[in-house]
Amino acid sequence: MPNAAHIKTALPGPKAQAMIARDAEVISPSYPRDYPFVMSHGRGTEVWDVDGNRFLDFAAGIAVCSTGHAHPRVVAAVKAAADQFLHISSDYWHEEMVGLGERLAKVAPMGGPAMSFLCQSGTEAVEGALKLARYVTGRQRFIGFLGGFHGRTMGSLSFTSSKYTQQIGYAPTMPGVTHVPYPNPYRPLFAGADQGKAVLDYIRMLFERSVPASEVAAILVEPIQGEGGYIVPPDGFLAGLRALCDQHGILLIFDEVQSGTGRTGKMFACEHWGVAPDIMTLAKGLGSGLPIGAIVAKKSLMSQWKRGAHGNTYGGNPIACAAANATIDLVSSVFADNAAQVGTHFMSRLHELAADHPCIGEVRGKGLMIGMELVEDDAARTPARTLCDAVITRAFHNGLLLLSCGTSTVRFMPPLNVSVAQIDEAVALLRLSLDQALAGG
Ligand code: PMP
Repeated sequence: MPNAAHIKTALPGPKAQAMIARDAEVISPSYPRDYPFVMSHGRGTEVWDVDGNRFLDFAAGIAVCSTGHAHPRVVAAVKAAADQFLHISSDYWHEEMVGLGERLAKVAPMGGPAMSFLCQSGTEAVEGALKLARYVTGRQRFIGFLGGFHGRTMGSLSFTSSKYTQQIGYAPTMPGVTHVPYPNPYRPLFAGADQGKAVLDYIRMLFERSVPASEVAAILVEPIQGEGGYIVPPDGFLAGLRALCDQHGILLIFDEVQSGTGRTGKMFACEHWGVAPDIMTLAKGLGSGLPIGAIVAKKSLMSQWKRGAHGNTYGGNPIACAAANATIDLVSSVFADNAAQVGTHFMSRLHELAADHPCIGEVRGKGLMIGMELVEDDAARTPARTLCDAVITRAFHNGLLLLSCGTSTVRFMPPLNVSVAQIDEAVALLRLSLDQALAGG
């Protein structure tokens, strides 16, 4: 049994409480905060709160701190860039920006030349990808997926459907977006064993009945659904989407904001199935915490964007690009492989936990993008929402930072350089938290 000796105070401690009270007066209450963690500092997979309590961070700033907290090479790259200049705007050229474009072109999964547009966040990358798709195809409609998450600005929000609450109060969003189901083998919507094929047939039916394929600019999809529940599509699904797009001249956009930059044990999740997108969106883990996003597209597409067709002020910010360059170097050389290896160990430890906990309906994922779906009844698979929230709260009090996704899925997205020993420590804390939550504690 692990001990929670690194938690020194009842949480939130006195300093944390004071900070939360100040925040409540001046910061928007719209942030979906689940428990009162007030950060002081972090190193690798460990973080400390302002009262001196230590936690293992298996949320990593929502899959952002890919190289862990304050990785020395990332910090050194940021400091060196900051010493030169903090900003110059994307009207000019500089080494960190060009270097990032070159690195992205090298690792891009397009199977040919690629170009990048740089921005600050996931949602901005998605907005730009949608604009690029309309611009080069001259078409206006889009297909998105139920359960998808692509951001909270008006264009990306039109696709976001992981929780209906994200939509309340904002209609009408962008017209022309049709949602179709995402294939979920654990919760099949369609008859038959192959949910991927069923969804592809459903899209074909849409094309015949209500959405002319010739008017569809792009299909926007997460290669592994993130906020919607860490759902891994069945083999053949992405390849089927690719074939459908090719047949109708539709562009395929992979949103790899959460699944990209090594998270799944390969540089990009789509590489697990060998399927190349036309356009890809990146953010989160790309900058190890510095705000940066990117649209990476086939050069044949992005080179069509005429001067002034799309732009921004901060794109290519030298500090953010320096962090991204250091991150890509670390992830592509070592950390993606570590995510694959450590992820396999983590997955087998979670399967052990599932073996003596019937409330764990499914453990799924790739690399270090792993979801553990909790159910009230193993046979009926009724989502155990209350239990999921209780496990996450218990885990916090035991010194483990977690987040949820989907309806009742605990998700694990630690830094990609997490060690086997830290995985084992986290699994012990998780087991304790699960048992406490089941006992009503
Ligand atoms: N796409 C995906 C797949 C995401 O997971 C997210 C964020 N959770 C976004 C886009 C939006 O990113 P951001 O919060 O940086 O706007």
